Amino acid sequence: MKIIIIGAGIGGLAAAVSLHEVGLRDITVYERSTSIRGLGVGINLLPHALRELSELGIAESITELGVAPTTLSYFNRHGQAIWSEPRGIAAGYRWPQLSVHRGRLQLALRDLAEARLTEPIRLGHRLIGVRSNADGTESARFATDDGELEVTADVIVGADGIHSALRALRHPAEGAPPWSGLTLWRGVTRIPAFLDGRTMIMAGDAEQKFVAYPLSAADADGRMLVNFIAERRVGGTGDADWNRAVDPAPIAELFRDWRFDWLDVPAAIAAADEILEYPMVDRDALGQWTFGRTTLLGDAAHAMYPNGSNGGSQAILDARTLAFHLATAEDSPAGIDTALARYEDARRPAMTALLAATRATGPERVMQLARERAPQGFADIDEVIPRAERERIAADYKTAAGFLPEILNDRPSLTPAAIRPNGAVR
Ligand SMILES: Cc1cc2nc3c(=O)[nH]c(=O)nc-3n(C[C@H](O)[C@H](O)[C@H](O)COP(=O)(O)OP(=O)(O)OC[C@H]3O[C@@H](n4cnc5c(N)ncnc54)[C@H](O)[C@@H]3O)c2cc1C
Repeated sequence: MKIIIIGAGIGGLAAAVSLHEVGLRDITVYERSTSIRGLGVGINLLPHALRELSELGIAESITELGVAPTTLSYFNRHGQAIWSEPRGIAAGYRWPQLSVHRGRLQLALRDLAEARLTEPIRLGHRLIGVRSNADGTESARFATDDGELEVTADVIVGADGIHSALRALRHPAEGAPPWSGLTLWRGVTRIPAFLDGRTMIMAGDAEQKFVAYPLSAADADGRMLVNFIAERRVGGTGDADWNRAVDPAPIAELFRDWRFDWLDVPAAIAAADEILEYPMVDRDALGQWTFGRTTLLGDAAHAMYPNGSNGGSQAILDARTLAFHLATAEDSPAGIDTALARYEDARRPAMTALLAATRATGPERVMQLARERAPQGFADIDEVIPRAERERIAADYKTAAGFLPEILNDRPSLTPAAIRPNGAVR
């Protein structure tokens, strides 16, 4: 079975490694960029993604790139605590959560893919067209510096991100990703360790918010590398550009009153070397991912807002699910059709629900409720949002995202039984 993957982001590379792990060998990744530069700032991988990386046998090399947060805490814009919950192993999962630099993660996955695949990653290949052939195969057309090139395969996987060319070819009326009206500024800063040094924090509400999590342990001078996302509703066009660098000073000024006794937000923003600005956009849920033997994966299928920290993790789950079904269906053209249908059945309804939950501000709903019910702050959070309500909001999101500890810990492996050592559930 010949498989083409479009895009060498986290989803495409995870798909390449996953397909190889289940015994598929004719896999080629085509990437638009002429080099994989490992762009971006921090990304969180949730326990459901760490489970898949662990079953792929690559969790160790990824884990050493990041920090495992033990707690997630939500605050209002006055720095008062609303909700706090353990994360990863501390929350009862068999796998940790991991905060990691997106670029380092992408480069590590690239190295793993290059070490395993027989075909090198084809850089400088931009997908511009697809064609279904009478024999059921699919042909992909690429623009390269040397002209156009057509490649035919049994399966084409579009892992080409939020601006996916394959998605646009299949859904030509869709247009640009809808904008939430919020602008995000992402950066990495070196600041004094806050709280216990392993806590991810979110402060604010749906109008203005600050999220921060460590990307390193504290060094000898007590400072640590921290990833942050500052967010605010401002004017703009909603034109998505991941790499627009902006001056930190005016962004720090937007947060000038956010000096908590445990974190100085404007100082953290001002200390960033570089801040990347982009509008908070996502994609509407699709009614169909698979056309013929082409399908979508990761952001191409279900780009979502970063609240909930699920984009990278869900791309990894897609990759593993697709590999499982391609490996376990009959090895025939009809078997491929069945596998793609099973992949879409397993993933698309779940991602439709998760997109809706994420648009409804996901687990951050507690912050908005605190703002609505106690805009000037509170003496006792229990009188503002009873504990049972806060617990329900946290659990509802985990259910939608498929990572309630008891469900994740006990669900069957996505490694086909035939290739598990001794048939064991890993
Ligand atoms: C430059 C960049 C920086 C990011 N930074 C962050 C961050 O700091 N924090 C965070 O949480 N998330 C970030 N993300 C998003 C995050 O990586 C994704 O949400 C998640 O990992 C899902 O990944 P994906 O592989 O589906 O898509 P992506 O990571 O977007 O990867 C898609 C890949 O497809 C390639 N591609 C696009 N179009 C074509 C085409 N026509 N032909 C061939 N290849 C194509 C792209 O160059 C890219 O390598 C970033 C994404 C990008 C592209």
